[in-house]
Amino acid sequence: MRARKALYGCVSVVILAVVTEPADAILNAFFETGAYLKGHFRLTSGLHSPEYLQCALVLQYPRHAEHFGRLLATEFRRLEPPLDVGVVASPAIGGLIIGHEVARALGARFIFTERDAASGKMVLRRGFSIEPGETAVVVEDVVTTGGSSREVIDILKDAGARVIGAGSIIDRSGGAVDLGVPRVALKTMQVVAYREEDCPLCRAGNPVVKPGSRPVHAAS
Ligand code: ZN
Repeated sequence: MRARKALYGCVSVVILAVVTEPADAILNAFFETGAYLKGHFRLTSGLHSPEYLQCALVLQYPRHAEHFGRLLATEFRRLEPPLDVGVVASPAIGGLIIGHEVARALGARFIFTERDAASGKMVLRRGFSIEPGETAVVVEDVVTTGGSSREVIDILKDAGARVIGAGSIIDRSGGAVDLGVPRVALKTMQVVAYREEDCPLCRAGNPVVKPGSRPVHAAS
C-alpha cells in the first residue's frame, strides 16, 4: 500500500490519461516491484523526464510477465477481423520477455529482431524466418515514439508477413503513435517530459541519466 501512496503523491505528474484496467492493476504491479523510477532521465526521444517506468523490473517476476502476456493476447483477439496469430515478433532486448509471453498465450511462435552494431539497422537473425502470408503481431514493452515497433513491422512486411496489430504494456505516447496497424496497450499514459532547454531538473543542476544506465531509487 506504500506504493499506492506514492502514486497519489505523484499523480499530477504521472498520468493525464488512463484507459483500460479500471483497477489500475498494471500500474500497481509497477509500483509494487519498484519499476516506477523517479529521477532525471533522458528518454530515447531526447526529452528529459522526472520519472520512468522500467519494465524490466516488473518483468523480472514471471507472474507479472505471464499476466501481462495474457492480457495483451486478449486485446489482440479482440481485433477485427479475428485472425489466428502465427508469429509474435519483438525488438530485442526490451520486447523479449513480454513478446514471448504473448506468443505463449496466443499459441504462436516467437521471434525477435536485434540491432546490427555496425549499421544500426534492426535485423532478423539466428535463422528466424517468416512464411509468406503468415499473420504476425509486434509486441514491445513500452511504446514512446513507436520507432522500434515500426522497424519490426517493416521487416515482417518485407518478409511477406501480414501484420495485423502491434501491442505494448505501456503506451507513453498518450495514444498518439500511429504504426499503420491496429494498436493495443495495457496502459496508455502521457508522461511529463521537457525539452532539454526547458528542463527544470537541468536548471537545478541535477545530472541526467539514460534509464537503465546506472542504479536509481524507486519511487517511495
Ligand atoms: Zn533535464
